[in-house]
Amino acid sequence: MGSASDAGSKASAAPRVVIAGGGVIGVCCAYYLARRGARVVVLERGELARGASYGNAGSISPGHPPINKPGRVKQALKSLFDPLSPLYVAPRLDPELFAWFWKFARRCTREHLEYSMGVLAPLGHATRRLFDELVAEEKLDCDYRRNGYFEVYATEAGLAAGRHEAELVRRYGFHPEALTGEELRERDPSFSRRILGAIYYPEAASVNPYRFVLEMAERARRLGVEFRSGVEVAAVAVEGGRARGLALADSGAVEADAVVLATGAYTVPLVRKLGLRLPLQPAKGYHRDRRPTPGKTPDLRYPCILGEKSVFCTPMDGFVRFAGTLEFSGVNDRILRPRLEQLTNAAKQYFEAMGEDESLSEWCGLRPCLPDGLPAIGPVRRFPGLYVATGHAMLGLTLSPVTGKLIAECILDGAPSLEISGLDPERF
Ligand SMILES: Cc1cc2nc3c(=O)[nH]c(=O)nc-3n(C[C@H](O)[C@H](O)[C@H](O)COP(=O)(O)OP(=O)(O)OC[C@H]3O[C@@H](n4cnc5c(N)ncnc54)[C@H](O)[C@@H]3O)c2cc1C
Repeated sequence: MGSASDAGSKASAAPRVVIAGGGVIGVCCAYYLARRGARVVVLERGELARGASYGNAGSISPGHPPINKPGRVKQALKSLFDPLSPLYVAPRLDPELFAWFWKFARRCTREHLEYSMGVLAPLGHATRRLFDELVAEEKLDCDYRRNGYFEVYATEAGLAAGRHEAELVRRYGFHPEALTGEELRERDPSFSRRILGAIYYPEAASVNPYRFVLEMAERARRLGVEFRSGVEVAAVAVEGGRARGLALADSGAVEADAVVLATGAYTVPLVRKLGLRLPLQPAKGYHRDRRPTPGKTPDLRYPCILGEKSVFCTPMDGFVRFAGTLEFSGVNDRILRPRLEQLTNAAKQYFEAMGEDESLSEWCGLRPCLPDGLPAIGPVRRFPGLYVATGHAMLGLTLSPVTGKLIAECILDGAPSLEISGLDPERF
């Protein structure tokens, strides 16, 4: 056993890491870094887990394709004239949004989809194992349910597209299963007779996302992580070409050997000051939570996606969350009520008994989206000591443990255990 002074010198030899952003990504990075002995401080300008990580659909969906798909551009253009469309671009003159869509459109191809699946699938397989491990080892109390989800369709065209996508996903090592409407209703009688069929994705799971982050933060705290809420980061402190810490908006700085930017949809101002190009656009999503009530809100046995409407419905402890929409309307937290209401209105077509009822919670949050649909995870070579972990779009919760583990490996081992060159933050 080492002496007290050994312990002291070991602690001072441990690298100091400062993380900007206390969402699911920042918290998972902190946890995996601290687990391996780093001394970590997390700076969050608001409260922990109150950004996109608070109210998302809670689905852990390994194998889920990214937002760039063939047909998306047409959908985006049509949405300019349909404010209730699941993907909605609020018409406005914004050169950055225009440039983003230009890059996005060029990557809505079959080839890019295959490429993205090749990059994301190994992360999906790894993250699934990490969730199992974390929940078991850390005894996380976050309503973890490992029972897959259904993608359900009310039209022939929707079902054909769903089956096509399932074939793609199957080629990357996942096991989607095609079901008829009858087979679906045998597993969960909540679904309407109008549903023609479904795809079951058995590898998926769900959690209460807010509780997951709070539980992970608590475990990180036990490993020595210091969380500072109400502290806004103004800039990355660079000295001699190297990232040395974070400068705070209220003056002062936190020095560190490594800096991680995990500021989600709000990352652009921080990277712009460094002259880095990270073309992030926020894609707003909404949720409505309702208590299961006969005739009003179904008591779902499984999570599901309403295929044609892209609404995710997740049963959580005591409520069902209806979540969705991809709204490109800039960085703001304005709730457009017709879009919010569309979540539960759309569900009326899919469930046997769905009526009007009060919501327990209504919310919106911003997904950080890059135009190639892939996150940015890893070192910024132009500024040694600087790391980025953002751009997870619809998969931030899903990929949070694997992102945390990879960032810890990049910082502590100098190389990640998975191939992540496709996620290079400097690729734009
Ligand atoms: C409706 C909806 C449904 C979704 N469903 C799912 C799903 O089912 N499964 C899934 O995997 N993903 C889902 N997502 C996506 C997921 O929520 C996001 O990808 C994820 O939460 C992003 O996490 P984050 O930590 O990067 O960002 P955030 O949770 O937004 O955290 C970023 C944090 O950084 C802080 N911050 C920003 N700037 C500064 C600064 N300068 N100084 C200090 N702090 C700062 C913010 O306050 C914030 O707390 C959904 C998203 C939405 C909106």
